[in-house]
Amino acid sequence: MRSCIICGRKLKLFREEKINHSNLDAYSYSSRKIPEYMHYALYECENCHVLYSDCTVEKQEIFRNYKEADYDSGDEADNASRTYYKYLCKYLPNYQANRALDIGTGNGGYLEILMRKGIDVVGIEPSDAPIRQAAPAIRDKIINDVFKKGMFEAESFDIISLFQTIEHIPDTENTLKEIFSLCNYSEPTLFKDEIRVA
Ligand SMILES: [Zn+2]
Repeated sequence: MRSCIICGRKLKLFREEKINHSNLDAYSYSSRKIPEYMHYALYECENCHVLYSDCTVEKQEIFRNYKEADYDSGDEADNASRTYYKYLCKYLPNYQANRALDIGTGNGGYLEILMRKGIDVVGIEPSDAPIRQAAPAIRDKIINDVFKKGMFEAESFDIISLFQTIEHIPDTENTLKEIFSLCNYSEPTLFKDEIRVA
């Protein structure tokens, strides 16, 4: 297990792996679900107490599971989108926001709100099912894939969001660096505090 990506200190075992594969179903890899109370081995940073999961499943298998997962939480996602937008509004007056990227966008409810405000939007969503449930106007704006390096040009977005998504990204540190490089602002730390609260 590597060191903490936040503070660089050592990680120590927090909980042993607890997995029962017979408890997995079509919703296990969906964005909202009834918890199975299972986990891979969990490691905790000895300094900042961030928890890390030592997932032993191959990346390609995880991505396939996300792609095929079922989805029945469109209403909750739409409610959450309105909350996300409320937080965004605190910052919008200070920034020129022309183009937004939402990674792990689900049914694109949040992008729909931004689009209505005149912002050009792009979503990324690995699961097929939520995209099928997206409003027709937003469906074409969603790329059905996992986020990958090189998908977009540097500094091409004014707003980038990952709501309830960062914990699904296997290579968090490098992915965040890539995401920061896509941000149009020299110090893209806009929502750092909000993420901590959430
Ligand atoms: Zn730490």
